[in-house]
Amino acid sequence: MERYWNQEIETMSREDMKKLQDERLAAQVKHVYENVEYYRNLMDEKGVKPEDVKSTEDLHKLPFLSKADLRDAYPYGLLAKPLSECVRIQSTSGTTGRRVVAFYTQHDIDLWEDCCARAITAAGGTNEDVCQVCYGYGLFTGGPGLNGGSHKVGCLTLPMSSGNTERQIQFMRDLGSTILCCTPSYAAYIGETLHDMGYTPDDIKLKAGIFGAEPWTEEMRRSIENSLGIKAYDIYGLTETSGPGVSFECSEQTGMHINEDHFIPEIINPDTGEVLPEGEVGELVFTSITKEAFPLLRYRTRDLCVLSRKKCSCGRTLIKMSKPMGRSDDMLIIRGVNVFPSQIETVLIEQGYTPNYLIEVDRVNNSDTLDISVEMNPEQLSDKVKDMQDKERQLAGAIKTMLGISPKVHLVSPKSIARSEGKAVRVIDKRKLHD
Ligand code: ADP
Ligand code: ZN
Repeated sequence: MERYWNQEIETMSREDMKKLQDERLAAQVKHVYENVEYYRNLMDEKGVKPEDVKSTEDLHKLPFLSKADLRDAYPYGLLAKPLSECVRIQSTSGTTGRRVVAFYTQHDIDLWEDCCARAITAAGGTNEDVCQVCYGYGLFTGGPGLNGGSHKVGCLTLPMSSGNTERQIQFMRDLGSTILCCTPSYAAYIGETLHDMGYTPDDIKLKAGIFGAEPWTEEMRRSIENSLGIKAYDIYGLTETSGPGVSFECSEQTGMHINEDHFIPEIINPDTGEVLPEGEVGELVFTSITKEAFPLLRYRTRDLCVLSRKKCSCGRTLIKMSKPMGRSDDMLIIRGVNVFPSQIETVLIEQGYTPNYLIEVDRVNNSDTLDISVEMNPEQLSDKVKDMQDKERQLAGAIKTMLGISPKVHLVSPKSIARSEGKAVRVIDKRKLHD
């Protein structure tokens, strides 16, 4: 039976949800216009007044905000509440460019943790569960967000943070953890360490994992599910919109339900800013309609995905977003071809390799080079040079079929590629160093 954290909201009729969004949006635009000079200037430049935005149909009239605006306004320029009402900051992990700082009132934290509680409940979590949180704690939103959500649900919460993987497994066994929250790359590493320590999934009590903060493929999901003996759920969010919990997966696992009572999504053409119809791939844009301290309107996430209102078997009526295929700025253009690291990951795992790999792109004599180092399983090792060369050629062929360009594949020995305890770094684009 499907469990909900807030059944009324999660299964609300489209009509009622729209009414709620319209009211909240109008009030939010007024709040921002009155309190954030930076955004007021943008609205004035576009000739939009708060009274012009009465419903979600008027959303397109508002100016976009982008990461560049967050940098311009750093640190306090987008704050909409006096400091006396703010109780916390969090900051981006800085995967791309300079850090961004976001602010929270106590109310903002409550709503954020509530979103995470919805995600934990959708993954089957109740107050009977033992929830091990191995996202980083501190400035990164992963640890604090899931920690708060776990408390709300009433799980016994293990605030482990990331790192010290053998100790993670010790705690997992001793305390009987049933839910694991971390990045998918760290989950894969925990699974690998569990096996290295001589245990199998039967030696732990985990039943579900809530993994997010970085892109991961369906192949990676199956590999983690097998190594830990669990069902793995996706969760999405970004610091600019609070953190994880903007959207979460349900039992159907065909995309993540967006908490629409707090965030209104749009999909736009990243080049023109034009709003695209449901079902088309584009850049995801969010408008926070309940945040007090750091309420971003029409924030461009740079994440590429698709929205869908198809009826979901879990009973939730909240709109769903597909797994982000990557960020528009993660996409590599190699010899004129668009390449997402996730496409390479899909091929590697399908061909029986580990999800431990490193993509290096460079430019030599005015031509782009693509080198992929891929770790072998111990069983794939061979001391015959020819065997290895055949394997490399075969894998390069499979990747060429997927991408349309030929990589150079280097099979490397087990455990030679550094493991990630947080967000994995899988691409090094050396061309950027030459610019
Ligand atoms: P940074 O931009 O420094 O990585 P954040 O820690 O706020 O900052 O990360 C937010 C970003 O992480 C999102 O914009 C998205 O690109 C990525 N992300 C978060 N959750 C997921 C997920 N479930 N799947 C794919 N990407 C995700
Ligand atoms: Zn669902």
